[in-house]
Amino acid sequence: MSKVAVTQDSLVVLEDVEKTYHMGEVEVTALSHTDLVLDRGEFVVILGPSGSGKTTLLNLIGGIDSPTAGRVVIDGEDITHYRQRQLTLFRRRTVGFVFQFFNLIPTLTARENVDFALQLTRRGRRRGGEGESAAELLAKVGLGERLEHFPSQLSGGEQQRVAVARALAKKPAVILGDEPTGNLDFRTGKLVLSAMREVNRLLGTTVVIVTHNQPLAAVADRVLHFREGRIAGTQVNAHPVPPEDVEW
Ligand code: ADP
Ligand code: MG
Repeated sequence: MSKVAVTQDSLVVLEDVEKTYHMGEVEVTALSHTDLVLDRGEFVVILGPSGSGKTTLLNLIGGIDSPTAGRVVIDGEDITHYRQRQLTLFRRRTVGFVFQFFNLIPTLTARENVDFALQLTRRGRRRGGEGESAAELLAKVGLGERLEHFPSQLSGGEQQRVAVARALAKKPAVILGDEPTGNLDFRTGKLVLSAMREVNRLLGTTVVIVTHNQPLAAVADRVLHFREGRIAGTQVNAHPVPPEDVEW
């Protein structure tokens, strides 16, 4: 029945997905007839002009929104018809988000921001499991020396790495980044990508990043090119470039 080739390794499965927004009389089809399978542990970059449906796709993968038609299965869970409450729990369990604007809580230190995410996660899971501390997660993204800094005392790149550590707190199956380097200069953007790549390699977390920066595509295992609400092309990088080495 399925048109897409799903295996045990498939983490993201989109089958003939469509997303239409209704704005009064006007209908906007943001995504049409999209089939997509991403495997566990893949590092994927999505490129495409503004308005081509990139954010819509991330929102569907991340359970922020539901499709108008088709099927969405993430980590073996069919979330296509989930209601808000179920989507909230799904997101908490399965997805880490890294946004363009870092969305840290300004009155909490780096450590407390990550701790907060850890607490939410522990509450969402019945099985306890100690897992890593906020300090360990921050060390993983190179911020072991910045634990007690408030967001306003950190550079943009450092704030974004706190956001990566926070996304890691729940050991998500997938990390989604919508222009995570959009507000960073090249050098700090590379540091953030390095942190995401390292997490991907160390923990096998699937990473999907939307970017406007064409050269960044070189770091991905796979690049999806979006055009007018469709995946217009796919490119596999046999030898992905380490983020540090990208010529930007
Ligand atoms: P991208 O991230 O590639 O810039 P989006 O996925 O945000 O593109 O948007 C795709 C299309 O859907 C655009 O034409 C946009 O205006 C429209 N769109 C996105 N979100 C909404 C929404 N919540 N309501 C109405 N139209 C939307
Ligand atoms: Mg967008």
